[in-house]
Amino acid sequence: MTHETLNAAAGTLPAEAIDAIERAATSAHRHEDLFSERAAHIRQSAVRDVFDISMRPGLISLAGGSPYLQSLPLERLGTTAAKIIAEDGLTALQYGGGQGTEELRTQICAVMAAEGILDARPQNIVVTAGSQSAQDVATKVFCNPGDVVLVENPTYVGALNTFEAYQVQVETVEMDGAGLVPELLEAKIAALQTAGKNIKFLYTIPNFNNPSGITLARDRRQQVVDICRNANILILEDNPYGLLRFDGQPLEPLRAANPADVIYMGSFSKIFAPGLRIGWALVPEHLQRRYYLASEAVTLCPPTLNQMLVSAYLRDYDWKGQIATYRGLYAERCHAMLAALKEHMPSSASWTSPEGGFFVWVTLPDGVDTYPLLQKAIDAGVVFIPGAAFTPSDEPSNKLRLAFSAVDPDAITEGVRRLAPVLREAIAA
Ligand code: PMP
Repeated sequence: MTHETLNAAAGTLPAEAIDAIERAATSAHRHEDLFSERAAHIRQSAVRDVFDISMRPGLISLAGGSPYLQSLPLERLGTTAAKIIAEDGLTALQYGGGQGTEELRTQICAVMAAEGILDARPQNIVVTAGSQSAQDVATKVFCNPGDVVLVENPTYVGALNTFEAYQVQVETVEMDGAGLVPELLEAKIAALQTAGKNIKFLYTIPNFNNPSGITLARDRRQQVVDICRNANILILEDNPYGLLRFDGQPLEPLRAANPADVIYMGSFSKIFAPGLRIGWALVPEHLQRRYYLASEAVTLCPPTLNQMLVSAYLRDYDWKGQIATYRGLYAERCHAMLAALKEHMPSSASWTSPEGGFFVWVTLPDGVDTYPLLQKAIDAGVVFIPGAAFTPSDEPSNKLRLAFSAVDPDAITEGVRRLAPVLREAIAA
């Protein structure tokens, strides 16, 4: 706000308020050059940007990948939380160990066993503030500015934001319908290493990739690990959706047979509740010390009360039954979305058919940029995330992500029906 504008507003604002605004404006300018170089690399997340828009009444949001929490036993959970504070408040509200509580880490081993990781021990685990924080710690521990991180194309926008904030060079490897293409991974690594680049890790979401819904095929899993091992590159395996498979056969995580090569990241955000911000990293023994120290330096300790609530949930509730409920719910929603796409989408559009997770990835013909279509879709009463958000380059993209997790089947059908004419018009243009 300029001085003149402030003076003009003087009739309506008290003098102290004007002083405060002027001081803030001057300070903002004065401190501009104090930002780190890193701060300039922290980019806005398209997903967070549309979060508020998505809340507008009347809009159908196929944008955010929020879990559908309505099926949680909220009243009972409230009683459990109150009981933890009443009976164990001096522990629950106190600082705890940096690695997380022993009880929760022991229970996390059982959660991972349900996925096929049978050799995890509590001492191999650090509890983190969501798996987002586990990604951040990994990048902090392994990457110098200019180092290379490999990602699938497309990949999770939150991970891209983390990597870019550490001034890492993010290089993409293409996927096909069966996930990351091993030959392309191998060729990319060879080219980068020949160019003298320092590749630190491959970040991969092998199950129901966010945003594409694609799953890495069984016969490619060991190939991917072997390629990385031969090139001396770690793997950061991000598996928040693994237990939410509603079609097809479960596949072993990359970590299961490769304990020395993979940092595995899990989360209670999709199988329980994201607001608790409880995730974890299962870290190979030879990397643990520095990883744990770095995690502690970020959060001191993961939230004690929330850990105790998750522990009580895993101990006293039917968490496997709840996951089965989620699976049924997301299957119904996914199938509603696929049916609606089949009915309403233009014939030149194609889309993925996920076997789990939250997302369908729609591809329009080459040359169509989905970013400018977002406002038109909002005007038509539906929200999606444009594909560009899921690439490091932010280059125009003919893709878009639709989330089916948080919206009931009728609203999904209506949302796709609203979206179709917007896409059809853009294709015809
Ligand atoms: N990884 C992926 C692939 C995700 O989709 C998300 C959340 N959308 C996260 C990590 C972050 O999860 P958390 O809430 O555990 O930080």
